[in-house]
Amino acid sequence: MAGIYIHVPFCRHKCSYCDFTSFPDKIDYAEAYMACVYKEMKMRGEELKDYTFDTVYFGGGTPSYIPPKLILGAMNRIRECFKLTKDAEITLELNPGTIGESKVKTYLQAGINRFSIGLQTAIDEQLADLGRIHNARDYVFATKLLNGQNFSTDVMLGLKNQTKEDVQKTIELAAACGSKHISMYALTVEDGTPIYTDYLNGELPDSDEVAELYDFGRALLSEKGFERYEISNFAKKGYESRHNLNYWKRGEYIGFGVSASSFMRGKRFTNTFDLDEYMKCVISGFYPAVTSEQVSEEDAKFEFVMLALRTREGLSMSEYKTQFGSSIGDDFPNALKKTVQYLELEGERLKIKDEYLYVQNSILIPFMEEER
Ligand code: SF4
Repeated sequence: MAGIYIHVPFCRHKCSYCDFTSFPDKIDYAEAYMACVYKEMKMRGEELKDYTFDTVYFGGGTPSYIPPKLILGAMNRIRECFKLTKDAEITLELNPGTIGESKVKTYLQAGINRFSIGLQTAIDEQLADLGRIHNARDYVFATKLLNGQNFSTDVMLGLKNQTKEDVQKTIELAAACGSKHISMYALTVEDGTPIYTDYLNGELPDSDEVAELYDFGRALLSEKGFERYEISNFAKKGYESRHNLNYWKRGEYIGFGVSASSFMRGKRFTNTFDLDEYMKCVISGFYPAVTSEQVSEEDAKFEFVMLALRTREGLSMSEYKTQFGSSIGDDFPNALKKTVQYLELEGERLKIKDEYLYVQNSILIPFMEEER
């Protein structure tokens, strides 16, 4: 099975840490932009007619900022152009500052059956520091509007003045509001974003402090029945994100919209990051991809290892052998020797030991070096 991603690049305001492809002053483009997305889908429809898709993900930007009829239109176009399983997981990212009753009604009509809410923190001063347009009350209001629908909540670590009590309040709020899934991840500070100044001034927690917040949050989530199934993702049983699991399994996906990436038939390609160029390209009947590469076998092996070791399920050695015809021991003998103390074998699955999963990146370095 494969996934579909749609990038909606409009936001009401640019957050102080944001380095994503999002435009705070271009909502007037939304209708014309989505018409281009529909056209791009049509252009891809014929060549992907043999595929069946079982996940759709509207990401951004802020998909809940644009008129909801455009989301409905996108779903109609997807169903027209692609085969979608009956029980497909269809997720929409939702910003609590942009939601109302009639929007939710239209999303449900469109078939959205999972929402991903960007709460980040339940502490209003921290939300203001991040330049978020919502407060904790807006989050509670949004979850009430969803009225029992399946939703996930984003929680961010590494914020200015953030304490364990703040993390606790945030997780407890999400759990009390009925979140079935929590993504808990560290703030990434990018050069050129306003928050970079706070970082330079030493006002943000350092990596050891963030790791402590993570361990604290992880223990609390476990107490509340959220199982960690990937470094940053925790879910109640049966509520893991199928769309993300597909990425970690090196499954195929097709992306639509400005800056969207795809991985199909062993090839990775990414659309232009320039909104005008994207629209001009599609209107003229050209694919908007600006980079495209056939993934080499060496890269594919490393990707397989890197992605599988992010997950609690770990790496299936038989699957590795089926895909590449060689064993992981043949391909990465030195890396395995160097990292043996961090790994464990459960049946035929190779995993990073639970206590080391958070530092997965450094454990992977020897694998990356051996791949080259
Ligand atoms: S809502 Fe998300 S995409 Fe939009 S500006 Fe904030 S961080 Fe960036």
